[in-house]
Amino acid sequence: MDTVTGKEQRWPVGVQCAVNFGFDVDGETLWTSRDAENWNRPANLAQGSYGPRVAVPKILNVLDKHEVKATFFIPAWIIEKYPEMAREVIERGHEVGYHGYLHEFDMTAGYETEKEIMDKSLDIFERVLKVRPRGLRSPLCEMTEATMRLMHEYEFLYSSTMMDDDFPYFWKYQGKISNIVELPIQWLWDDSSYFFFTLSDPVRRGISTPSKVLEIWKGEFDGVLEYGAILDLVFHPQLSGRYSRIKLIDDLLTYMKSKQGTWIATCEEIAGYWRDAHGPAN
Ligand SMILES: [Zn+2]
Repeated sequence: MDTVTGKEQRWPVGVQCAVNFGFDVDGETLWTSRDAENWNRPANLAQGSYGPRVAVPKILNVLDKHEVKATFFIPAWIIEKYPEMAREVIERGHEVGYHGYLHEFDMTAGYETEKEIMDKSLDIFERVLKVRPRGLRSPLCEMTEATMRLMHEYEFLYSSTMMDDDFPYFWKYQGKISNIVELPIQWLWDDSSYFFFTLSDPVRRGISTPSKVLEIWKGEFDGVLEYGAILDLVFHPQLSGRYSRIKLIDDLLTYMKSKQGTWIATCEEIAGYWRDAHGPAN
């Protein structure tokens, strides 16, 4: 064990750290879920539609250039509206994950309502994409007791929602260690912290220079590599699909791939490895 970082060998032989590029393809639902009035504001809806229509194809190209596979968390309403985009994501070898039907984050909805939303959404994944998502990222990084219960009942492999650790870990649920793997995230690793700008309530003023964000993410990545941890990046195509930010993804991937021992993989691959290697049954 390294005396400074406490680093242990947690990953496959030759791997020093794990990285996921996660894309939350919220589209219009990013807007309607923050304010239902946005259903009546075509210009705000149009900002959302830039993600699935224009940004995702650019993102797929930059991922192909670096030969990396990513995870796309897509609300089922977006899959219904943009089925070709969602199929293309799968055909290019990426993973799709659960992100609600309309990006819901009503903390008071309750078990029955959440179950209805999940049933309807999983049906859409199966009908349109012929896949069942293994993982979930809760919209706005909220989590409810009902979501946790449903994830166990539906045998999800992982969540990528919590912000309480540097490493993957197994949930504690009803007093026991669960076999659901958490792949922790962090606002520091989320493009919306830097790039979400809107004058509509609730106002956001994020227009950072890509060089500043690249500096932050390189610093985080260097630490993750040193400590042998996980970096779970969160992108929103409608924000990160703009020219200078696509270049940022390109530059970041070039930097990461120049460092030995970096494992860039889908959430499903990382969580699957973690469960096999470190699971409660082992
Ligand atoms: Zn989202």
